[in-house]
Amino acid sequence: MQVGIKQFDEQDRSGKIGLRDGGKTILSCAGCTRPIAECWITLPNLSASFEVRARCCYCGDHSFWKTIRGGFHVSGYALNNPENPTDSKMITEIVDVITDDNERTTFLTKRATP
Ligand SMILES: [Zn+2]
Repeated sequence: MQVGIKQFDEQDRSGKIGLRDGGKTILSCAGCTRPIAECWITLPNLSASFEVRARCCYCGDHSFWKTIRGGFHVSGYALNNPENPTDSKMITEIVDVITDDNERTTFLTKRATP
């Protein structure tokens, strides 16, 4: 799910800037500490920042708020196979995105269906 693409479009309509890997941030639950979502910075030069958190699909608590700088893509948390980096399994999924009055974003998650 791409977030911040609207601002990106307003800054550069050429569409020639590819998505770049600017690193990722993992949102972990403040209650049960499980990782619940990943934010991948895909547009590191986008001059915008986003306050984000995720609601935990295990206990209903939330992660702490994190500030993401740049355009980013959010996904559920993937468990990587350490012996084969291309083999990863999604264990959570993003099901909805809620933006509050302060323009802070909460991602709702659910357990991925195996
Ligand atoms: Zn939790």
